[in-house]
Amino acid sequence: MMCFSVISYLQDKKMIRRNKTKEIRIGNRVIGGTNPILVQSMTNTYTGNIGKTMRQIRKLIRADCEIVRVAVPDIESCKAIALFKKKVHIPIIADIHFDYRLAVRAIEEGADKIRINPGNIGKKANIKKIVVKAKNAGIPLRIGVNAGSLEKELCRKYGGPVPDALVESTLRNVEIVESFGFHDIVISIKSSSVLDTIDATIKVARVMDYPIHLGITESGPIASGTIKSAAGISVLLHRGIGDTIRVSLTGDPVSEVVVGYGILQSLNLRVHGPDIISCPTCGRMEVDIAPIVKKVEQRTSNLCENIKIAIMGCIVNGPGEARIADIGIACGKGAAILFKKGKIVKKVSEKEMLKTFLDEIDTLVEKSPRKQRKDNKKSRK
Ligand code: SF4
Repeated sequence: MMCFSVISYLQDKKMIRRNKTKEIRIGNRVIGGTNPILVQSMTNTYTGNIGKTMRQIRKLIRADCEIVRVAVPDIESCKAIALFKKKVHIPIIADIHFDYRLAVRAIEEGADKIRINPGNIGKKANIKKIVVKAKNAGIPLRIGVNAGSLEKELCRKYGGPVPDALVESTLRNVEIVESFGFHDIVISIKSSSVLDTIDATIKVARVMDYPIHLGITESGPIASGTIKSAAGISVLLHRGIGDTIRVSLTGDPVSEVVVGYGILQSLNLRVHGPDIISCPTCGRMEVDIAPIVKKVEQRTSNLCENIKIAIMGCIVNGPGEARIADIGIACGKGAAILFKKGKIVKKVSEKEMLKTFLDEIDTLVEKSPRKQRKDNKKSRK
């Protein structure tokens, strides 16, 4: 039988081997290669409403969003980009559909990257105008193929936006952009079908080394969208595919960032705060742990450090989980055993449990050489 410390060691060290993709600079960030997988989101305000969009971008930055995309449906939205660029430090991506002139103008206004769906930009000559402008500005283009806006002729050929149609669209559009001598490319292939997205993205990743942005498009409201996104994005990440991610949810985009980091952290690909391990509770539960979990979650939400905190309802799995966490409690009748770094520290009564546990977490974090709070980090931005 394997001892707990060995299991813990293996859990900590397990890493996903990532595909080696080309490095691409987006503003002050670099993606691809061995660079961290970045978390993106997209504002859902009208971009031309500068005040509202700026407030949302700031909220996203506070949540640690690393790249933000804004929809650019008109000239007012293009102009807004120049103002955002003066006030925020994270890269701003302009999302363009249909009109190449908006892409050209967005580049002039300082966009750090342009996302186009060449399928709806139309003539090659118009795509060329965007490519030439991006090349001169030294910014990348994302070729974002989406099942909802696939070229009609490919839909007819394949009988719908199936994975092979998405792959052909991607390869064809990359070829068009490359034919203008442009290789500063990021790719995304998205469908609201998890399986189609996985299938198409794997096929494209086999034949190209451009960085890939992952997401399940139009995945739905917060709960079901989180599930779909986690399922699809995780399968691809586990195969080593993906250089940036966006979790598309209907609702506050801050949730997209929270879920995005959650996915990356659960696969050991990024560290973004504590990992709370708590049991689902059942009829054996000796102490109601739900309020304790809630309080611990609130108290530790601003920590950057990836400490493992276990809160367990009874002795069945409690001592085992609490022992392999950095800090944990395993509840028994009216009391709990507190563990730190695999060792029993003390027994506490149910009454003292919450306060003692929170104090011990604080002490653990204070002693850590890596301690960093997100609010400190924010003040530097
Ligand atoms: S640890 Fe105990 S209370 Fe929690 S789910 Fe398992 S058996 Fe139930």
